[in-house]
Amino acid sequence: MAYAYDDENIFAKILRGEIPNKTVLETEHCLAFEDIAPKAPVHVLVIPKGPYVCYDHFADEASDEEIVDFVRTIGEISRMTGVVEDGFRVISNAKHNGAQEVPHLHVHVLGGKHMGPMVT
Ligand code: IMP
Repeated sequence: MAYAYDDENIFAKILRGEIPNKTVLETEHCLAFEDIAPKAPVHVLVIPKGPYVCYDHFADEASDEEIVDFVRTIGEISRMTGVVEDGFRVISNAKHNGAQEVPHLHVHVLGGKHMGPMVT
């Protein structure tokens, strides 16, 4: 499958430093920053620096090094934000049916309160 990446999306602009963000952690391949409209006391977005639209794009085309960095960064964010003990939720919305708003892969790391059941 061919993926068309739009490099004018807001997270691409954040990565280029054109839009400010509240960075929590930066690694070689990833950036983690606070969501601008938090849905929980802890709401951090983790994005790869590479131009991947969504999860399947990343899984198909990213290098093993990028994938390992991404997964480990999510784990590190859970520790850094203090949600690892009581628990947290990791969500990635993809494409139309997933209600993805920003077409650059991101996972939401949510915690700091009981989340309730998954809703659609
Ligand atoms: P999506 O629906 O999974 O694509 O979520 C996109 C998320 O990006 C939403 O939770 C927004 O609040 C968040 N967001 C949009 N613009 C910004 C920004 O400039 N900084 C941080 N978060 C943003």
